[in-house]
Amino acid sequence: MTVEVSGPIGILGGTFDPIHYGHLRPALELLETLALAEVRFVPCRIPAHRDVPAITADQRLTLVQLATAEQAGFVVDDRELRREGPSYMVDTLTSLREDFGVATPLALIVGSDAFRELDTWRRWRELTGLAHIVVMQRPGAQEPFRPLLAEFIAPRVVSHVSALRQRPAGGILFQPVTQLSISATQIRALLARGQSPRYLLPETALAYIHQRGLYRSRPDAFPATS
Ligand code: ATP
Repeated sequence: MTVEVSGPIGILGGTFDPIHYGHLRPALELLETLALAEVRFVPCRIPAHRDVPAITADQRLTLVQLATAEQAGFVVDDRELRREGPSYMVDTLTSLREDFGVATPLALIVGSDAFRELDTWRRWRELTGLAHIVVMQRPGAQEPFRPLLAEFIAPRVVSHVSALRQRPAGGILFQPVTQLSISATQIRALLARGQSPRYLLPETALAYIHQRGLYRSRPDAFPATS
């Protein structure tokens, strides 16, 4: 069955280890500026591109649920956690395409750091056949793109948000967002040192972290158990 929607579906994948305002504020800005029907937060099960997370998948999912609960248009999507094996975005987009049908615009949202590594993702050239890509600028120096990626990007760049509604996939939009120099790495490090990450992430998420005693030791010291 195909789900009826009114605008492009934003898809923000990540480890969310833990989720923070550097995810949430840009996601809200994109929801509004791009007039997205929703932003789906998709926590990955086993990240394909980084070290194992410091807490379990269920705990990361709970943090995302707590942090997004109050915002209309934010949706939590646990499909990668329900799928066996590593989380590949190409599989996730294929499955979303099945849910939303061929005509609904999908917009994969990635930070500029993650986008720079796009050519290392599994079957990366197929991604724009399945969705648009919206790149949100992250603070920090920007290296030039590797030649293969630069060649791939050039003919696909769109300069206006309206392009995301004109077809279901295929465009790459570079969209400025408020620059928040916050990373999950920083939050894990603060907690491991016994310092407070308050105001870097929602209070509800922080309360859960404290309640469960998460991230207390050295960052990434514990392999995830699920
Ligand atoms: P870590 O520090 O553990 O690598 P992270 O803070 O980068 O984690 P992820 O869950 O890996 O968080 O990021 C999910 C997505 O959100 C990625 O596309 C990433 O580029 C983007 N992102 C993360 N932090 C920010 C930020 N401060 N501003 C804009 N985009 C961000």
